[in-house]
Amino acid sequence: MIRALILDLDNTIIDFVRLKRNAIDSGLSSMAEAGMIFDKEEAQKRIMEIYEEKGWEYQEVFNDFILETNNGILDYKFLASGIVGYRRAKEVSLVPYPQVTSTLFKLAKRGLKLGIVTDAPSREAWLRLCYLNLHNVFDEVVTSTDTGKLKPAPEPFKEILRRLQVSADEALMIGDWPERDMVGAAAVGMKSVFARYGDSFDTVDSGADYVIDDFNEILDIIDRENES
Ligand SMILES: [Mg+2]
Repeated sequence: MIRALILDLDNTIIDFVRLKRNAIDSGLSSMAEAGMIFDKEEAQKRIMEIYEEKGWEYQEVFNDFILETNNGILDYKFLASGIVGYRRAKEVSLVPYPQVTSTLFKLAKRGLKLGIVTDAPSREAWLRLCYLNLHNVFDEVVTSTDTGKLKPAPEPFKEILRRLQVSADEALMIGDWPERDMVGAAAVGMKSVFARYGDSFDTVDSGADYVIDDFNEILDIIDRENES
């Protein structure tokens, strides 16, 4: 009997790749408008490289970019323009995938417990949930700050099961990253659902028990699981 659904956050609930791309684009446009001179395409590439190097939550990406591009001078007009442009686009782009909100409410009404396991730090994870207006929907949220471990380590998965007070066979894990979400769930004995709509790597074999292209397909999967 499935009593809990555990969700990954980035690229499962929100299109994080698109959000980041829109925010960077807008930040760069604002910096250009403030008078900074650079090639936009090269700049986008460089910003992505900095993120890949320093992590996706790195907060000083524009500082680094301006120092590199502007002869080692951190021009605060450029920096502030970039940050404001980035934030404006981010707020607009921070929306859940289609069907997510309505499906979560349906699941909650059915009495299912809802949890999140994310590799994002607590501050960023909760900011995203508040922007999405989903901060009161989940029973428990486990972030990388809570356990100090990243998926697929067993600690975050065990922690969410403990907090939700369900056993591994009573929970279903949904995520977009097979090596983290599916592998981690299977290692603690949880079945998993691959969110193919959030996959940007053209994954062929996710190793999940189920694959969905639309979030509301989760309703049928839970029905099927609970019939058998
Ligand atoms: Mg993800």
